[in-house]
Amino acid sequence: MSQPLVVFDNVVKHFGEFVAVERMNLEIHRGEFVAIMGSSGCGKTTTLRMLAGLEKPSEGEIRLNGERINDLRSWERDTPLVWQNLALFPFLSVVENVEFGLKMRGMAKAERQRKALEWLDRLGLSEFAARDIAQLSGGQRQRVALARSLVTEPPILLLDEPLSALDAHLSVRMQGVLTGLQKDLGITFVYVTHSQSEAFAMADRVVIMSRGRVEQVGTPQAVFREPHNRFVAEFVGGKNILGGSVAGFDESGLVRVESEHGAFLVRPPMDRTVAAGEQVSLCLGAEHIQLGERAALANRLECRVVGEEFIGSMVNIHLESASGLELQVQKPHAEYAGLGLHGGQKIFAGWDSANALILRGE
Ligand code: ATP
Repeated sequence: MSQPLVVFDNVVKHFGEFVAVERMNLEIHRGEFVAIMGSSGCGKTTTLRMLAGLEKPSEGEIRLNGERINDLRSWERDTPLVWQNLALFPFLSVVENVEFGLKMRGMAKAERQRKALEWLDRLGLSEFAARDIAQLSGGQRQRVALARSLVTEPPILLLDEPLSALDAHLSVRMQGVLTGLQKDLGITFVYVTHSQSEAFAMADRVVIMSRGRVEQVGTPQAVFREPHNRFVAEFVGGKNILGGSVAGFDESGLVRVESEHGAFLVRPPMDRTVAAGEQVSLCLGAEHIQLGERAALANRLECRVVGEEFIGSMVNIHLESASGLELQVQKPHAEYAGLGLHGGQKIFAGWDSANALILRGE
């Protein structure tokens, strides 16, 4: 593979005693859309600000195109940042805002105007060129901010929660604008968000952080299907997690996990071995649980229906086993309707051993 565009090499950032980013190692490739996600305070903005040149790493090295950029100021590196507040200049018109970066680089007026208008056109903003920023809607301002950052044709664009101030409908529309733009231009996007749905809808790879540490990096599908640890499993959602201990192995190599809710057979982890007696967490995707009067699967639990909620095209069914385990099951509407469930109904929940995972950590 070609040289990565960005490398975080053992990067640490502390503010006084507090470690905001702990030994980050991450490679970002040209043309990738990478989303950094995690709960509030996990260090995602600090990571982006170090890449933008707004914070300096305390240790380690950040490289852009193979060159160390730790000591370059934000205006000395080509890493523009678009953030929630946009920071558009209210005293300049739309086209003047877009021209600004080119003016700072000393480009002649006619040329920079031509380029700015070209970018406004690309973002569907031509008719607003002469307007004041105050006369634009939230979504239009967002696009002006993008045009202003992209007009200098940087190799990478950094975005910090750029859609969080928009309403849900507009945010989804802007997600389409962003991914379309990113793919058309072939530019690298590094996008910080606390929203899992945003990150999963747009990114080629997601970086999940917790308390300054990178917990997992992978495609949205891989992270959702195979969370490495309990934090990631809980963060991506839609998972049932229960603790138990390894009791042994069956003849086909499946791990037998015993818990207060029963004994279950689980496929062994792909990247490590587990030993008898080890405390483990078992993770079971809500979409993998089958329901029926009699579940013929290797793993099953008798449960009671305690509720359901409709989420878009899916239904979340909440169950509780006799041992008190709460299970979340997800079904498409048609399948849910076919089950004819009602509150309090007794039903078996079953799952295939191949669809359960053993996570790191209890
Ligand atoms: P949010 O989603 O809330 O923006 P985040 O993941 O982006 O969170 P950061 O802004 O990177 O989090 O902050 C990480 C941690 O570092 C937080 O605990 C924050 O309080 C701390 N921090 C950030 N900047 C500073 C600073 N300049 N001085 C001291 N502590 C800071």
